[in-house]
Amino acid sequence: KDGRESDKQPSIEDKYVVKDLLGTGAFSEVRLIESKDNGQLFACKIINKKALKGKEDSLENEIRVLKRFSEQARGEGEEKNLFLHPNIVQLLETYEDKNKVYLVMELVTGGELFDRIVEKGSYTEKDASNLMRQVLEAVDYMHSQGVVHRDLKPENLLYYSADEDSKIMISDFGLSKIEDSGIMATACGTPGYVAPEVLAQKPYGKAVDVWSIGVISYILLCGYPPFYDEKDENLFAQIMKGDFEFDSPYWDDISESAKDFIRHLMCVDVDKRYTCKQALAHPWISGNAASNKNIH
Ligand code: ADP
Ligand code: MG
Repeated sequence: KDGRESDKQPSIEDKYVVKDLLGTGAFSEVRLIESKDNGQLFACKIINKKALKGKEDSLENEIRVLKRFSEQARGEGEEKNLFLHPNIVQLLETYEDKNKVYLVMELVTGGELFDRIVEKGSYTEKDASNLMRQVLEAVDYMHSQGVVHRDLKPENLLYYSADEDSKIMISDFGLSKIEDSGIMATACGTPGYVAPEVLAQKPYGKAVDVWSIGVISYILLCGYPPFYDEKDENLFAQIMKGDFEFDSPYWDDISESAKDFIRHLMCVDVDKRYTCKQALAHPWISGNAASNKNIH
């Protein structure tokens, strides 16, 4: 048949060798892939469509959106450089077959923030402030493009390299609808980063990311989460009340500026919660409030 070759959807194997497993998520796995052209390495997120039963339509829709983004990122669309930020893992290409969706991404090699927290116990205020500034800048940028992450957590913050002072990268931007954080959270049982308005099933927006950044900041500084209960029911109630404390003795040596910053991010009232821009302007991020406190 004429044109059979050109009608055939390009497959990931045409261009890449699929290699080692880098990590797994609820509906997906991430593998190392190598370009057959030049040996360059990338990460590929492989989403199993079957695991998303009943949500195929929203998946199809989201893939279309992602494809447009990756085209724009390569400069093929009208708006160049959309979604290109030094602290956001870049999506380069997408492939699809009957059972799976393949998202080719920039490879980062420094591991998850989560693992460094476990390793270190907690961060100095200087290091935490520096890290959260990068996260806020990236999220502010995405918010300015009209995209909400909805699933910010230490597992989605990856170090670019293994260096001690490596920059941090946010992964999974634009995937929130595919992975649906709400459903994932209840399925996986770790809703500790979810904003109160999400749990209350109110309409929500950009502010949910700021809440999550507040939770992550809290954890970085003391090494344990602000909300915790064995029973999800009780955990939800804590979050919806914004019921957290700066417990003694763990928080005794942490600056008032850091606490003030966190209070403005983990603020139940969405209208009073800081935006990314306001958070970036807070002295703990923009000033030297944190760098003077390098002992903790
Ligand atoms: P989750 O569902 O928890 O968000 P993901 O499927 O996004 O999990 O990713 C699983 C793991 O794969 C990540 O936590 C990380 O360790 C690894 N990973 C994801 N993206 C990349 C990447 N671009 N480069 C290297 N490793 C990655
Ligand atoms: Mg992820």
